[in-house]
Amino acid sequence: MADLCVNNLTKDFPTRQDPLRVLRDVSLGLDQGDNLAILGPSGSGKSTLLHILGTLDLPTSGQVQLGDIDPFQLAPPQLADFRGQRIGFIFQEHYLLPQLSALENVLVPILAIGRAEPADVDRGRTLLECVGLIDRMDHHPAELSGGERQRVAVARALVREPDLLLADEPTGNLDRTNAVSVTEMLLNVLSPENKMLIVVTHSQEIASMLNQQVELIEGRLQ
Ligand code: ADP
Ligand code: MG
Repeated sequence: MADLCVNNLTKDFPTRQDPLRVLRDVSLGLDQGDNLAILGPSGSGKSTLLHILGTLDLPTSGQVQLGDIDPFQLAPPQLADFRGQRIGFIFQEHYLLPQLSALENVLVPILAIGRAEPADVDRGRTLLECVGLIDRMDHHPAELSGGERQRVAVARALVREPDLLLADEPTGNLDRTNAVSVTEMLLNVLSPENKMLIVVTHSQEIASMLNQQVELIEGRLQ
């Protein structure tokens, strides 16, 4: 069985009339080290799918299994731990905290559950080095460019060593050169770590940098 197994997911959102079916029978499998691009028009259900894979929302039917765990069988506190330990997120907006330095921002997922030990700080520094920002680790987000901020967000998403990294249009706010360079950094920092990566993107060029590409159209994977 794959390390990430998604079987026959459907998602309906309630409306005043019939429920709106946003995902239809979505199945996919990824193994450690795999990376996948999801393309598709706006409104086709890409963010909804990523939210469910990230356990931020529940499917209407179908299963998700990461390793040997079905997260939707977990009680809320265990689900929160599972999400924090095993899943990393990168969004279109960087969501960095303006009052914190780049290094402190990278450590936020650690600080959210306790204190940062020296080994955590070392990992934060190493990740910033991997994304080419070691010279900027004391800089605040306002002192960084859009591409640099997204590289900090990449490092932050990896600081707790997730098994699965989910990125929803991570380069959607960047120009072409920065979009390609942030994606290169993301792939470079992930490849020795053997994690799974799913990137939602509108860009055929960005999608072609990943090993596999699928398209989501009206909630169905093509
Ligand atoms: P994409 O990311 O591909 O642009 P989304 O997954 O955000 O698409 O949305 C897919 C469809 O689901 C859209 O029609 C959107 O309006 C609808 N939708 C998304 N979230 C909700 C929600 N919480 N309640 C109702 N409808 C929603
Ligand atoms: Mg979206």
